[in-house]
Amino acid sequence: MNEPLRTTRSIRRVTRQLMVGKVPVGGDSPVTIQSMTTTKTSDVEGTLAQIYALAAAGVDIVRCTCNDEAAAEGLAHIVPRSPVPIVADIHFQYRLALAAMEAGVHALRLNPGNIRKAEHIKLVASEAKDRGLPIRIGVNAGSLDPDIAERFGGSTPEALVASAMRELELFGEVGFEDCKISVKSSNVAVMIDAYRLLSETVDHPLHLGVTEAGPPPAGLVKSTAGIGTLLAEGIGDTIRYSLTADPVEEARAGRTLLEALGLRERRGLDLIACPSCGRAEVDVIKIAKEAMAAFESRNIPLQVAVMGCVVNGPGEAREADLGIAAGKGRGHLFVKGHVVRVVPEDEMVAALIEAAERIMEEGIEAVIASAEVGAAEEAEAVRVELLGSQGDDANNSASRVERIRQIVE
Ligand code: SF4
Repeated sequence: MNEPLRTTRSIRRVTRQLMVGKVPVGGDSPVTIQSMTTTKTSDVEGTLAQIYALAAAGVDIVRCTCNDEAAAEGLAHIVPRSPVPIVADIHFQYRLALAAMEAGVHALRLNPGNIRKAEHIKLVASEAKDRGLPIRIGVNAGSLDPDIAERFGGSTPEALVASAMRELELFGEVGFEDCKISVKSSNVAVMIDAYRLLSETVDHPLHLGVTEAGPPPAGLVKSTAGIGTLLAEGIGDTIRYSLTADPVEEARAGRTLLEALGLRERRGLDLIACPSCGRAEVDVIKIAKEAMAAFESRNIPLQVAVMGCVVNGPGEAREADLGIAAGKGRGHLFVKGHVVRVVPEDEMVAALIEAAERIMEEGIEAVIASAEVGAAEEAEAVRVELLGSQGDDANNSASRVERIRQIVE
């Protein structure tokens, strides 16, 4: 079952709060997950289908490009039917920011690197102020204002922050302060330092992301390194994984990261599995995949463990709500570390599902209380037997060497 949130020890940096539609960003609100549609925004039905898929995968806010008049017109139809707030992504043309606001979007993202005329920026900020809409100042290392890049000798952390501060000053000239800021780079180290610097400079909510991170798995690793490092330091109010992949993968990755850091409550399955080793009595990778597939459609918010052996499995995964550990052709089903049932090896996944459904209906204590008589003793006997036969030799090296010799001879 869901435990109280256990977060990293760092104290979340205090930021002012703003509202993107009905979703709060910053302050003491939960860190939110964003993604961006990849459809043409003028394709209203296609874009809405993607927005619904993203919402189902756990995003809080979706961004759509507003790159031409047809896109702005599309937004006018998309916004009222969207289940989550919509942010219009604006580059180059300030008029499209005005058009997007007219279309009813909940927020804008402006790129200070390619909308540079002060009067245009101030006009958009004034209009946003009048409408009560927030703006994200979205600095991107790849499209940094050339004069700032020249002044700082490239897209350094200081250059990215300077670009954001210049935009913020222009906003300030028209009394507009309702903004969040991003300073993204595809270089993870630059991105981390830029956000650290920015967080010391302003108290606006920060939108974290590693831009152009690329396809998974490298894109996932880079994004997690950058976003995760900052969140663990208490920096960041909203996040986006920028993957070269279906945006639903971005949503899932963001959700998983926040749940792993204890920044959002777990809402689905958390499958943990041992990496397997020489003690494994089954093919752990295969069983874990089967369990994942079986659980995925059921939306059961439990932490489930698949462990390769009964020697260490139940002990190592005692914090899990539920788990299975293999031993001598049997699966030892355990709940919060208590062995409650022993099942044939080929019924391990089915037994996990059945127990999970019982936990959801009756509660963990009830399932522990109804443990099969003798299950714990049987598991302990197998554990002791395996331990005795394998000893401290986790890779069972002696018997492997013996078998190798038989093969080679
Ligand atoms: S000792 Fe057992 S539970 Fe631990 S990694 Fe090896 S097989 Fe898995």
